[in-house]
Amino acid sequence: MSLPTGASARGIAQTIQLYPTAPLKLSVIVVGCGMGGLAAAFALAKAGHDVTLLESANEIGEVGAGIQVTPNLSRLLIKWGLGGVLERMGVRPQSIVFRRYCTGEMVGKTDWRDMEETYGAPYYHVHRADLHRILYDLVLDTSNVKVRLAATVIDVGVDADDMAWVKLQNGEIVRSHLVIAADGVKSLIREHITPHTKATPTGDAAYRAIVPCSQLLSDPELCQFVENPEMTAWMAPGRHLMAYCIRAKQEYNLVLIHPDDGSVESWTAQGSADKMRKDFEDFEPRVQKLLSFVPSTLKWKLMDRDPLKTWIHPKGHIILLGDACHPMLPYRAQGAAMAIEDAAVLGTLLSHISHFDQLPIFLKAYQDLRLDRTAETQLSSRLNQKIFHLPDGPEQRKRDADMTAAMNARGN
Ligand code: FAD
Repeated sequence: MSLPTGASARGIAQTIQLYPTAPLKLSVIVVGCGMGGLAAAFALAKAGHDVTLLESANEIGEVGAGIQVTPNLSRLLIKWGLGGVLERMGVRPQSIVFRRYCTGEMVGKTDWRDMEETYGAPYYHVHRADLHRILYDLVLDTSNVKVRLAATVIDVGVDADDMAWVKLQNGEIVRSHLVIAADGVKSLIREHITPHTKATPTGDAAYRAIVPCSQLLSDPELCQFVENPEMTAWMAPGRHLMAYCIRAKQEYNLVLIHPDDGSVESWTAQGSADKMRKDFEDFEPRVQKLLSFVPSTLKWKLMDRDPLKTWIHPKGHIILLGDACHPMLPYRAQGAAMAIEDAAVLGTLLSHISHFDQLPIFLKAYQDLRLDRTAETQLSSRLNQKIFHLPDGPEQRKRDADMTAAMNARGN
């Protein structure tokens, strides 16, 4: 039977129409308790399968930073019953504004107040820890998921009897019909599926910091960033700064992209707030004020990779999801969104499996439905690196003039 391909909802509908019933319960191991792994555990359990979620960390959590929940993601989260909590914990930005770094002059603006009408779901800015927590709670509330912390996977494989297995650091072997590797940008399991395809440095690193909105509100030059919350992007040669409100306008999140000067790839590495201020000292005075509020900062090396050709183990039964297969620069705010979309598509497909023989067909459909969309997102995120970071000169002036013309044409 031939399979529908393409990344569309129609592609999913075509596949599942061929397999309308689902009496089969699979055992599924999900490796990694990041946002992709949590979403996969929930989606697969919702599809009726028994899930074991393995996470190497001893406790669950996320770092202190903001994350953008774009409508393609909020639409899914709302479907999963999280609309109310997102609305309480998030902030709906009213616009995105692009500014020139040294003067603060507005070069582009898009009104986002009609986001819900245009895209069918709102755009939210939230705290990563809050988003991670609500996904974790969703998983804990789902009866057929078992979470195991302090469970580090050190090896994987597929037996002759078509069962997948993972080996844990303590020597234990856990077997299942399917292993979903959501083990992040440094994925060990990816190496078993498509060797020598490690993510590589992009040349950029990110400082991250959060300051209380009360500090902005007490300053007449800064209060506008909270009162009419805009997402502001200051673009500079080789750098940019993105800033927005989170936590019901209690906190202001700053992401400062700059050339990597030897940071490590880590979610928790501390950076120097003074070095950060020095690296951005040529930005406009309001930015200098904002950065003066920052007591400490996290520093992230940004990695990505060309799109992979396959996400499926040569013997089947083991697949990749999220940053494990499509790490990307955060310049379209799509990494977590793509991971959670992967999970939703896989869950929908596997809610229709009725026989073990169909597993390869569904895994291939998952890959076909997801690979092109995520590849395009990886590559367009790289393109934004070039656009945002143009050196001062003719190309930058043309970019700014084009953005201003588009803003004026929209009447923003
Ligand atoms: P991870 O979150 O990396 O989770 C992997 C998990 O697997 C971890 O918990 C790890 O401990 C565990 N693990 C790893 N190896 C093993 C093992 N061997 N055994 C057991 N467990 C293991 N995305 C957006 O959608 N919107 C944004 O606004 C946005 N902004 C971003 C800003 C920055 C600066 C950065 C760096 C990223 C941003 N992203 C954004 C991207 C997003 O954060 C990631 O794409 C997303 O977190 C990836 O989730 P994941 O579950 O695939 O991987």
